[in-house]
Amino acid sequence: MILLQIALPTPLYRCFDYLCPPKLPIPSVGSRVSVPFGRQTLVGVVIAHPSDSDVPKDKLKPINAVIDEIPIINDDSLALAFWLSSYYHYPLGETLAVMLPTHIIQGKAPPTTYALSANEPDQIPSKDRPKLTTKQTQALTLIKEQPFIRDDTLRNMGISTATINALLNKSLISKHPPIPKPPKVQGTPLNLNDEQAQALSAITHALDKGIYQGFLLNGITGSGKTEVYLHAIARALADGKQVLVLVPEIGLTPQTLARFRARFDAHIIALHSGLSDSERLSGWQACRTGDAQIVIATRSGIFYPFCQLGLIVVDEAHDSSFKQQDHLRYHACDVALYLGFCKKIPVVLGTATPSLEQYKLIADGKLTECKLTKRAGNADTAQFHLVDKRLGTVGHTDIHGVFHHGELAIETIKAIKATLEQGEQVMVFLNRRGFSPILLCGACGYQADCVRCSSHLTLHKSTLKQATHANASYLYNHLKCHHCGYQIKTPTQCPSCHSPNLIHLGQGTSQLYEQLHALFANPQNSDVVYPIHQIDRDTVQGKTAWDRLYDEINTARPMILIGTQMIAKGHHFENVTLVVVADADIGFLSPNFRSPEHTAQTIMQVSGRAGRAGRAGHVLIQTYNPQNPALTMLIKSGYEAFAKMLLNERCQLALPPYSHAVLIKADARHYDTAKNAIIHAKTHLNHFEHDFAILAPIDAPIVKKNNRFHVQMLILAKHRPTLHGILNIWWEQVLALPTSKGVRLMIDIDPMGW
Ligand code: ADP
Ligand code: ZN
Ligand code: ZN
Repeated sequence: MILLQIALPTPLYRCFDYLCPPKLPIPSVGSRVSVPFGRQTLVGVVIAHPSDSDVPKDKLKPINAVIDEIPIINDDSLALAFWLSSYYHYPLGETLAVMLPTHIIQGKAPPTTYALSANEPDQIPSKDRPKLTTKQTQALTLIKEQPFIRDDTLRNMGISTATINALLNKSLISKHPPIPKPPKVQGTPLNLNDEQAQALSAITHALDKGIYQGFLLNGITGSGKTEVYLHAIARALADGKQVLVLVPEIGLTPQTLARFRARFDAHIIALHSGLSDSERLSGWQACRTGDAQIVIATRSGIFYPFCQLGLIVVDEAHDSSFKQQDHLRYHACDVALYLGFCKKIPVVLGTATPSLEQYKLIADGKLTECKLTKRAGNADTAQFHLVDKRLGTVGHTDIHGVFHHGELAIETIKAIKATLEQGEQVMVFLNRRGFSPILLCGACGYQADCVRCSSHLTLHKSTLKQATHANASYLYNHLKCHHCGYQIKTPTQCPSCHSPNLIHLGQGTSQLYEQLHALFANPQNSDVVYPIHQIDRDTVQGKTAWDRLYDEINTARPMILIGTQMIAKGHHFENVTLVVVADADIGFLSPNFRSPEHTAQTIMQVSGRAGRAGRAGHVLIQTYNPQNPALTMLIKSGYEAFAKMLLNERCQLALPPYSHAVLIKADARHYDTAKNAIIHAKTHLNHFEHDFAILAPIDAPIVKKNNRFHVQMLILAKHRPTLHGILNIWWEQVLALPTSKGVRLMIDIDPMGW
C-alpha cells in the first residue's frame, strides 16, 4: 500500500503517516484528504509520498477519503508553507490552516464554474444530438447566456447537481475557470516627475527582466507613491500578470479602492477582515484561476495562491498591522520579500517613514531605495512647531460645573480659532480613546482598575452629540478595560472610602470633544458654531458611517476633526490645514524599545494629512518636554535623521535590527506557573552552546490580562542561522518540559516589542 505523509491542523510539530487503501485513488502532493485522528476526523494536506515510515506498518491507519483529485494547493503555496513553518517555528499543519480559507480547511470544494464545450449542441447534426430533459435544456441556456457561471449560482436557480453532471457526461459543458477580459488603463495617467519616473524605470526594469528585486519607495505623504504604483501595475497587467497590493488594516478604504477602479478597467478584488467565509473563498479561487487581476488586501492576502503573480506592492510598509500578533506571527513585508524572491518578481515597499529594519536592509544592499523628495502637484510640505504645554493648558467647566484640566495649550487654542476663522479645517490627534484614562479618588487614592487585568479602567462618557441623539441621560457613563472588554457603571462615590471626590486624570478623545465643543460649538461661548467630529472606534462604526463622514469633511466647511490612529492613516483630507498632536510625550516615555520609532512614524503620518492640494499646512506638536532630543531632532532634521539616530542607538545596544530577537511568552492561571515555565525554558537553553543575550524571566508589560498571568523571555542573537538551528531543537523540547504543563507557550520571531 502507498504511504502518505500528511500535514494536519494540530499543535504538534510533526506530520503524520497514513496508508492509502487500494480502493482509493492515490492523492497527489497538495491534495486534501480526510483522515481518522484519535476519535476525530480531520482534513489534512498530502505533503509527500514517503518510501517508509518510522511507525510500524501494522500501526499505520488508512485515510478515509481523497477530497481532491487535482491538488488544490500548488507547489508555490506548499513551499511557502514550509518556509513559514520553519522560519516562525509554527506547526506545518496549523500554518496551512492560517494560509487557507476556512471552507478549504473544512474540506469543502471551491466554487466550480462552467462553460459550453466546443461541441455546441446547435452544431451537432440533429441525428447525433443528445436528447435533453427540460431541466437540462434550461441549464444549457443559462450556461450559454452566462459563461463561467458558478455551481452555487446554478443551484440557486433550481438546477440540480445531477442535471449539471448529465450535461458534463454528454460533453456539452465543461468545468472551466473564468477567462478575464484583458485589463485596460482608463482615465488619464499623470505625467510622472523625474523622481517618480526614475523609480518606475527601476521597477519596470525588474519586471521586464523577470527578476526579483526589493524596492523601498521612500517618499512623504503626497509625493506621488501611489501614482508610481499605478504606473508599475499597468506595466505588470499589460504583461498578463496579476498584482497584489497590500495595505494596512485601516488603509483599505472605499477611497483607496475607488482610486484603483478609476484607473483600471480590470477585475479588482478587495480582501479584508469584513468578508464572509464564502466571499473569501471566491477571492481565493479568483487568484488561483487567474480571474482576479488586481488584489487589494490586508496582510493575509500574501497567502493567496496567485497563478500569475507579477508584482507585489506593500503600501505604508512600516505599519505594524502587517505583523500578525497571534497564531502564526508573520510579518507580511518579510513574507512578501521572500515570495518575490521565489517567484522572481519585484516587490515595492512604499512608505513615508521606513522602519529601522528597512533602513538596515537598504544599508545592507538588500533593498533598493527610490526617493521621492517633493510633494507631487504643487502642495507644500507642512511646517512643524513645538508647543510647550508647561506654559499652561486650557481647562473647561462642564454643564454640571465640574472643572476638567485640558490637554490643549493656550497657543494651540488660538491657532485652532484662527484656522477656523479662515474657513479651514483642523485635525486634533490624540491616541487615547474614551473620556479619561484614569479614575482616582481624591480622598484615599483609590484607582479604578480592571478586576481581570493589571491595568486601569478607562472612563467612557457619551459625547454630547451621542447623548442628544440617543436621548440618553448625559450622565450615562461607564468604566471599560481596553484589554479584555470588562465594563462597569461608573461609581458615584469611591468604592473604598465612599468619598464623592472622584477625579478624572488625563484626557481621552471624548473629553477633548467635550472641551472643543464648549469652546467652538456652544452658541453661548462662541459667535460661530463649528461642526466637530470625533473619529475613533467608539464613534465611527461601519462603512456607511465612515462614508457619510468622509463626504461631510470633503464639503470643505471649517470644522474640527478629533481622532485616534484611525485618522492618522491613509485618508486624504484636502481641507485640513492645521494638525495638532495633543500629546507627543507618552510615546517617547513608553518602555517598548520600538515606541519612539512608532511615535515618530505616527507624528509624521498625522502631519501628512495637512496642507495638501497647494495649501501650506501647520503641525503643532504639544509637549511638556520641548527639550526632548528625540522630538527636537524629528522636528528640526526630519524623520530620516531621527531614524538614523535611533539606528545608531540600537547598534550600540545590539538591539534589532543589529541582532535577531525572539520573544517567548508564557501565560498561565497562576503567576508562578508561568514564571517557572520560563525559568526552566531558560535553563534548558543553556544546555546548548550559544552566545545569545537572554533576558528572563521578565514580566509582560501587562502582567495580568483577562485573569491570566504573562511572563516572558527575550533572546537576542547575532547570527540568525545559529539562532534558528538551536530554536529548531530547543523549542519543541521546551513544549514537552514538565514545567510547561498548564502553560500556554508562544514563540514570536522578530517581535514588534516586549
Ligand atoms: P502618496 O501615495 O505618496 O501619498 P499620491 O500618489 O496619492 O501620493 O499623490 C498625491 C497627489 O498628487 C494626488 O492628488 C495625485 O493625483 C497627485 N500627483 C501624483 N503624481 C503626480 C504628478 N506626477 N503630477 C501631478 N500630480 C501628481
Ligand atoms: Zn476613596
Ligand atoms: Zn481587563
